Amino acid sequence: MKLETIAIHAGNYVNDSNKPAVQPITTSTTFLHQEDSMVYSRANNPNRFALENLLAKLEFGEDAASFSSGNAAGMAVFQALEPGSHIVAPDDMYHGLRAQLVQMFQGIHTVSFVDMTNPENVAEAILPETKLVWVETPSNPLLKISDIRKICSIAAGKKVRVACDNTFASPVFQNPLLIGADIVMHSSTKYLGGHSDILGGALVAKHKDDFWEKVKFVQKTGGAVPSPFDAYLLCRSIKTLPYRMKGHAEHAGILAEYLNNHSQVEAVYYPGIKSHPGHEIAVTQMSGFGGMLSFLVKGDALRADEVIGKLKYFTNATSLGGVESLIERRAASEGPDSLTPENLIRVSVGLEHMDDLLMDMDQALSK
Ligand SMILES: *Cc1c(COP(=O)(O)O)cnc(C)c1O
Repeated sequence: MKLETIAIHAGNYVNDSNKPAVQPITTSTTFLHQEDSMVYSRANNPNRFALENLLAKLEFGEDAASFSSGNAAGMAVFQALEPGSHIVAPDDMYHGLRAQLVQMFQGIHTVSFVDMTNPENVAEAILPETKLVWVETPSNPLLKISDIRKICSIAAGKKVRVACDNTFASPVFQNPLLIGADIVMHSSTKYLGGHSDILGGALVAKHKDDFWEKVKFVQKTGGAVPSPFDAYLLCRSIKTLPYRMKGHAEHAGILAEYLNNHSQVEAVYYPGIKSHPGHEIAVTQMSGFGGMLSFLVKGDALRADEVIGKLKYFTNATSLGGVESLIERRAASEGPDSLTPENLIRVSVGLEHMDDLLMDMDQALSK
């Protein structure tokens, strides 16, 4: 099956006698005891089963685990590591997961944050007790690109597993499990959900090994699982994921070009632009450059806020991946310890008509 076909058909696991064409929502928390049946919905549920089957196929893994948020998915990986593990993570890791490592796992695991755009930094940071390399590419909010193949081969040489946060790329444009990663993580709140109305997270494993069994134990016993309705909604959303992603990437490419030529713009960060430092690597591991971009507007934080305030079709809100365009001054969102430039504007380019988006951006940037 090709991706578009998987997206539409792999989320149906219908086993009742009327054979509905679409997976119905099963709200029952408990199931009649019988051989091979599900037992209790914290452990499994038909909608979650359908979603996890779909996620595993989308990322070419053997198994998947879904969670109530992306942060819960990431945390399950950290919780599955034996205490005393060392983790190598990117210096620009998604701030919520970075906060977990620094504040919640302090005293349990140790972490080294490195610039992963140079894979040699990963090689140097790996210690005898290193159990995990965490990769995130493209990164947030500078869209930095790390070489997944190189990092995975360095880690494999030292018998360290690699997990990759694939939220920005989506499974449509990047499949880390096919180029060496052991686990893929998604905030399904973003592109997988696609309509800014579902909170969720996912992990997909290349192999059902012992570590994966621990992750599944954390999922079931920790209990941060999605509701049947959220699982149902995600299956519904994913049917259009491949076509939404094509639209997001096309629009982001056009907007990036436009901004790159604008006199009020200091810099544009989009891996599809040839001058982006990660462009060459992006081409080798991504089949499209995604729908996220950032840019520096000439001026200070006030000027950036002024531009954002004038926009009509880009909603000033955090998050990303929905059909509606979202925009924010990222430093304001990340809080006082943010290292992001004050005049950086992050855009999740939506699926509105491109003429309207360009016209809107044009009037907002004009002085
Ligand atoms: C949003 C996001 C997360 C966290 O996901 P939630 O669903 O908000 O918990 C993790 N990584 C990246 C790259 C994200 O954008």
